[in-house]
Amino acid sequence: MGCKWSLVQIQSPRPIPPFYGNPGAGSFQVTTSTNRPRILVTNDDGYDAPGIRVLAEAAVTCADVIIVAPDREQSAASHAITLNRPLRATRTHDGNYRVDGTPADCVHLALDRFTGGVAPDLVLSGINRGLNVGDDVVYSGTVAGALEGTLLHIPSIAFSAALDPAREIDYDSARSFVTTLVGEVLRRGLPAGVLLNVNFPAQAPRGVRITRQGTRTYRATAEERNDPSGQPYYWIAGADMTPTDEADGDHRAIRDGYISVTPLHADMTHRATMESLAAWDLGVESRGHA
Ligand code: MN
Repeated sequence: MGCKWSLVQIQSPRPIPPFYGNPGAGSFQVTTSTNRPRILVTNDDGYDAPGIRVLAEAAVTCADVIIVAPDREQSAASHAITLNRPLRATRTHDGNYRVDGTPADCVHLALDRFTGGVAPDLVLSGINRGLNVGDDVVYSGTVAGALEGTLLHIPSIAFSAALDPAREIDYDSARSFVTTLVGEVLRRGLPAGVLLNVNFPAQAPRGVRITRQGTRTYRATAEERNDPSGQPYYWIAGADMTPTDEADGDHRAIRDGYISVTPLHADMTHRATMESLAAWDLGVESRGHA
């Protein structure tokens, strides 16, 4: 076990941070270490969710790790950051942080305050309980945690796992793939503005597919109930999901039993529509190319 990170990647000229954890069993005790890579781990299911421990355990096989995660579930928080109230962060006995904010808050705060002024080499987010495929990506706090890393110029990966009422999440398979992928990203890097969105199938994976974001969509659903005084209240439920099944899509890979790896781009521009919009009667200034 242990990722295959080695000499190539980090001849780090940067100072050694004071904070990252070591591979101690069960806890991620703060130590000062030599020039191992540094990995920041977050999630949206909350600090106590099991998936984040799996990421941290995989990461410490080749890196110094710090966990900065929401103190409670923040699923579907998307990329919200908290501007209208102060944020509180509680330092754990092993030197990690629980934050009363969103995943994006956690990454933002960690990079400015908890990482000793030294950017980590990688941000990992997850492992989410439940897939983040298709339209989920837009709502996902897990993906947003990774995207915040990407926006702040750090290679980042989001991980999510399918839920199956018949079985537990196969964290052993997930841990093994996380270790492999972390090693590859540390060695190869990622293009600027690009993050990886990884989804694990419910069963032991048959392999790995590189996919595109599918078009799994939700119909708007909100339940209406009455409170004790008879006033209606509403509860948004995203359960009415229609997966489409593009051959190269993320959902199809999961359905076929594969680990799905989708490169996502922070630049959401749709370039083809830029061209067609230029032909609308909007008074658009011609840029001199026909
Ligand atoms: Mn979640």
